Amino acid sequence: MKNDAEHKGIGIGIAPGVAIGPAFIIEQSGVPVPEYDIPSVQVEKELKRLHGAIAKVQKHLAQVRQKAESLPAGAEDMTLLLDAYKGMLSGSRLVRGVEEIIAKQRVNAEAAIQKQIGALKAGFAAMNDPYLAARADDVGEVGNRLIRALLQQNYNPFADAPEGCVILAEEITPADAALMSPGRVAGFATVLGGAEGHAAIMARALGIPAISGVGALTHGIRTGDTIIIDGRKGEIIARPDAVTLQHYRQEVSRKKQEDRRLKGLRDVPAVTVDGKDISLQANMELPRDVDAVLESGAVGIGLLRTEFMFMNRPSLPDEDEQYHALRKMIEKLGGMQLTIRTLDVGGEKLASALGEAVGESANPALGLRAIRLGLKQPKLLDAQLSAILRASMHGSVRILIPMVSSVAQMHAVRARILQAERRLHRRGIKLKGLPPLGAMIEIPSAALMADALAKVCDFFSIGSNDLTQYTLAIDRGDERVAELYNPFHPAVLRLIQFTAAAGWRANIPVSLCGEIAGDARATALLLGLGLRELSMSPLRLPAVKNEVTQVALPHAAEFAERIMNKTDEVEIMTMLKERFAGTKR
Ligand code: PEP
Ligand code: MG
Repeated sequence: MKNDAEHKGIGIGIAPGVAIGPAFIIEQSGVPVPEYDIPSVQVEKELKRLHGAIAKVQKHLAQVRQKAESLPAGAEDMTLLLDAYKGMLSGSRLVRGVEEIIAKQRVNAEAAIQKQIGALKAGFAAMNDPYLAARADDVGEVGNRLIRALLQQNYNPFADAPEGCVILAEEITPADAALMSPGRVAGFATVLGGAEGHAAIMARALGIPAISGVGALTHGIRTGDTIIIDGRKGEIIARPDAVTLQHYRQEVSRKKQEDRRLKGLRDVPAVTVDGKDISLQANMELPRDVDAVLESGAVGIGLLRTEFMFMNRPSLPDEDEQYHALRKMIEKLGGMQLTIRTLDVGGEKLASALGEAVGESANPALGLRAIRLGLKQPKLLDAQLSAILRASMHGSVRILIPMVSSVAQMHAVRARILQAERRLHRRGIKLKGLPPLGAMIEIPSAALMADALAKVCDFFSIGSNDLTQYTLAIDRGDERVAELYNPFHPAVLRLIQFTAAAGWRANIPVSLCGEIAGDARATALLLGLGLRELSMSPLRLPAVKNEVTQVALPHAAEFAERIMNKTDEVEIMTMLKERFAGTKR
């Protein structure tokens, strides 16, 4: 029976704002499947690929099931279905058939899955039973999940999304988020993913309202149903009634007005009440962010996440390709300083082209990630360093190293930069000088060693997202512990304060480029802790500038001191909110 009643779901808000639009449900279907022959010596390898994909899909299904269990309604249907999928992945006719096709017909695993699905579906159809017809769909669904896991590289799941739609999906990876355009996607809701995961950061950067952690997300919702996403409250409403719709439409137009007002601050200098300049810079995820950066009034790029160059592609970019991409960006930014962070993949940020170089890890966030990977795979790092050095001849550039945990790593990186310079020299490319080299302070060991690191760094950039994750031992991308993730935890604030002080003592610039830099409630506190450079999503910059212009540094210092005397997170949050509520907007 068709149910048209309003239907609400609750998750966690990961990107603020309200989106209203037709539902576009992303299913794991429609994946284009490559087919090729394999030599008999590769059969073993192909079977291994298949089993790797099975393990991956099983893990994903287990995650979704765990989420589904905490649902108020529709949970049984969903868990039953997920259990059925799981059953099809171990010793089933599907898996056995695929193994046989790979071994006998010697074709790649994706093609073998496709063939076996076809055979099973034909068998079900011949029995002419509606129950079995539904089972045939389930087999197809499981097969498609396997194919997608095997392909690793993401096809564009949004290619057919209608203009202004709200995407509903089990999971949106950072690579998926990079494919979304705000004109086309009004908002999204997912089952998996925490507020500080990279997909969430991208959604905020793109200004796309989003929520995650919604169980039974698509239960009772059809593609095309009107959906409202409230990215602040973490709410999803399907088929809203007239009163609800009216309320949220007003909310959207109020937000538009507020954005227009804040945009007026673009050319206003970021100067405190007592006349101190604060450097407000932008974080960039994708080259297309340049327009938003120029509109925001940012004075530089405090963080360019270079991961975009490695995402959604089957092969790695070489030095030349990276150089041209960076040079183009530098030219578009017209003289602004660009802080280029070297590749930070691994953990939750995956680049399929790196494939086995990164590999599976029991603890990806603690594994082969960022500069650890770069130093283990020097070719990867060297190509990027050479590209950055060449790009630095066209403008003001700084090099930023992610996930630094020791002084020795900075020595090793500097040695590789000098080597890259010599190699370029031999190729006839003569640099005028080397760009400043800085470390991300985002691991507690780096923060605690800030004095020593300051001696081997030209600048610091505090990554409060990871610093929070590693200090509190909370996975930033896991919605189940999201309520424990708090960058205003006194332990995290102490490490930020300690790092800022070490930077002052060594007379090197210290920036903060984690998400709290763009949280206007935190501005006075961060200035009070000694920070004078903040780098954030360009969309958040005007609101932060508004705060800067209303703060006097001595008051900020006094406020920070009061906060640092507190040990209770709730009390700290209340103080930040109360202070923020008292400023003029
Ligand atoms: C951080 O960790 O705070 C940071 C800015 O880097 P990322 O979010 O890319 O890990
Ligand atoms: Mg980080």
